[in-house]
Amino acid sequence: LLARQERWESSARAYPRRLPIAIAEAAGSFVRDLDGNVFIDFLTGAGVLSLGHNHPELVRAVTDQLGRLTHGLDFPTPAKDAFSEAQLSMLPPGLRDRMKVHFCGPTGANAVEAAVKLCKTATGRGDVLAFQGSFHGSTHAAMALTGSVAQKRPVANGLPGVHFFPYSYCGRCPLDLVRDTCTTNCVSYLERSLRDGNAGIASPAAVILELVQGEGGVVPARGDFVRRVRALTSELGIPLIVDEVQTGCGRTGTWFAFEQYDIEPDVIVASKALSGIGSPVSLILYHQRLDTWAPGAHSGTFRGNQLAFAAGTVAVGIVRRDRILDNVRQRGEQIADLLAGLREHPWVREVRGRGLMWGVELADPADGRPAGALAARVQARALRNGLIVELGGREDCVVRILPPLNVTAEVVETACAILIAAVEQSSP
Ligand code: PMP
Repeated sequence: LLARQERWESSARAYPRRLPIAIAEAAGSFVRDLDGNVFIDFLTGAGVLSLGHNHPELVRAVTDQLGRLTHGLDFPTPAKDAFSEAQLSMLPPGLRDRMKVHFCGPTGANAVEAAVKLCKTATGRGDVLAFQGSFHGSTHAAMALTGSVAQKRPVANGLPGVHFFPYSYCGRCPLDLVRDTCTTNCVSYLERSLRDGNAGIASPAAVILELVQGEGGVVPARGDFVRRVRALTSELGIPLIVDEVQTGCGRTGTWFAFEQYDIEPDVIVASKALSGIGSPVSLILYHQRLDTWAPGAHSGTFRGNQLAFAAGTVAVGIVRRDRILDNVRQRGEQIADLLAGLREHPWVREVRGRGLMWGVELADPADGRPAGALAARVQARALRNGLIVELGGREDCVVRILPPLNVTAEVVETACAILIAAVEQSSP
């Protein structure tokens, strides 16, 4: 199958290049390839399969919905009503009554585009501020807001009015020339640029922020950074968009990551794990004061995936009933403990994570350069030993894991042992 795909599929295919397996079937935290090899799947469909593969209750929700109604455009339907109610019910109580929902196309990028467009409509302004190292999607505007040059180099992608600022990536940001001595130069720089009429930035329509950069290499934002960005944007009347496409739906231990920062965003972007089973859906939740779109101002065909709505409503129920967020926090602490020893390894620069989103950053001890080639070897060796992991960050030097949120302690233990061995055996 890999050879057949090589013949007919676009050269843009990504995952099978580094993870050369053809998947036959999957259940829970495991996938089986065509040769019968079983792997622990800590990629989980790029963070989509939050309750593991083929969760039986989600399968039932989808099959029950099939035959009743599969696609509903933006008409009201019972499945959509229940899903919207479930999503709003997961917001902090103070925010719940003030937010509106807008369903977007099937992917995260669709919702990012919608968020930015809404803020432009609501403010009548055009500039957007984004952060270095960010990833917001592969469509034109979402890519233009993506701070990682490697992601967009081949298309000379850019949009006028997009400005990048340093993210709180301490020790690696251009404003932090002496490692670990800076705390908040990034926000001071942002603040001065916004207040300085000569900085070349008109009052922006929005600031878009990932609370943990995922594709950027699992970089959690510092608390003081996020709170100051929020205070500044509130003071200046700039809507703050949090891109929770990857961090949302429980991934970091709260339903949304912003809850851990004690802030209220103006717009929340969500997608990946909303249905829990990979049935595509994306949405923005936004403060009602931004509700300025005229009817039909942002339409799209695929905004009524009833299968995703049906599964997503059940997924929220399971998260509550099975105390999945507790599991995310406990398994996250377990991973932190298990991987702690790696910090002493000469090629490991940092082990970082929140909840069930972790990264091991590899760097050459001689010169501190990102060790992307080593990360690729670690990924290949982990695969040979039965664990699927992903890469990210600068030159793909961060080995990333996104386990299912209901993963067991036993699976975490086995997977971490494979990962640690892969780092130790692959290093020079
Ligand atoms: N935002 C973030 C934070 C993401 O991680 C991703 C996908 N990795 C996207 C947006 C884009 O989502 P999609 O691939 O579904 O368009």
